[in-house]
Amino acid sequence: MAARVIDGKAVAAAVKERVKVDVAAYEAESGRTPQLVTVLVGEDPASEIYIRGKHKASGEAGIRSAHHGLDAATRQEDLEQLVTALGADDDIDGILVQLPLPDHLDSDRVVARIDPAKDVDGLTPINAGLLAHGTPGLVPCTPAGVMELLAHEGVDLEGAEAVVIGRSKLVGVPVARLLLMANATVTICHSRTRDLDTVCARADVLVAAVGVPRLLGAAAVKPGAVVIDVGMNRLEDGLAGDVDYDAAAEVASAITPVPGGVGPMTIAMLLHNTLQAARARTGHS
Ligand code: NAP
Repeated sequence: MAARVIDGKAVAAAVKERVKVDVAAYEAESGRTPQLVTVLVGEDPASEIYIRGKHKASGEAGIRSAHHGLDAATRQEDLEQLVTALGADDDIDGILVQLPLPDHLDSDRVVARIDPAKDVDGLTPINAGLLAHGTPGLVPCTPAGVMELLAHEGVDLEGAEAVVIGRSKLVGVPVARLLLMANATVTICHSRTRDLDTVCARADVLVAAVGVPRLLGAAAVKPGAVVIDVGMNRLEDGLAGDVDYDAAAEVASAITPVPGGVGPMTIAMLLHNTLQAARARTGHS
């Protein structure tokens, strides 16, 4: 059996189109254009590529964007001051501080300075708390993208066994909370989990967010499972997921490729969040 390929590019394109139409409607009603501001410290090439992608996609959706590129040696207090000032600027709807930050900076302290109403990455303690509470505010983009893919595939999550591998604040924990809110029975695995394959093989929906190339093979996949591979691991021969795609595709009913699966969804959901933030802040729809 060969699994159906879940086309993240196509789903992301549909989300972006929807946001573009909604941005135009928001503009017509409010007389203003939503604005996203990004902050990057240093010159990490991968981060620079992500930032460029976010600005390009914003422009295509009719969202204004601005960027602050800061020196790699930027001091903690200067970065926190900038983030606070962006929060106080009424013309800005979304603030995104590109992670990871250089080692000398404390990213938790910086993120905590982001105005929760403009926290389009959904990483502030307030937004994480709202999600934990079951009353989400702005939801982290990659987990939101995973849920959008599952919805698009028509996956019935009610009572389904969902296993998430990874417990990061960015992906694993928020995706597990969203699955729980959708009434799945959720297990979270991590580096100390015993007999990972056996736990994973229970899953009707398997979400891998680990950062270890091709960690999960056919033995970790229940026949007929839906596999969502969040992993983006740069290898010499290109990008690899956390799932051994060829092996898993023999067993799963549907699977995301890497690249072209979850990746494109992250930017699409960022645009969605920026418009959501603009609407909530200004009271226009
Ligand atoms: P992270 O913060 O490094 O977290 C990785 C998680 O995987 C941790 O909870 C860790 O467990 C667990 N883990 C590590 N090795 C394991 C093993 N051998 N068995 C079981 N669990 C293991 O990473 P992240 O930020 O969540 O990102 C995860 C992956 O998603 C990365 O490849 C990243 O590049 C990718 N990603 C993709 C997108 C996208 O847009 N597609 C966005 C964000 C991230 P412990 O907690 O016990 O250490």
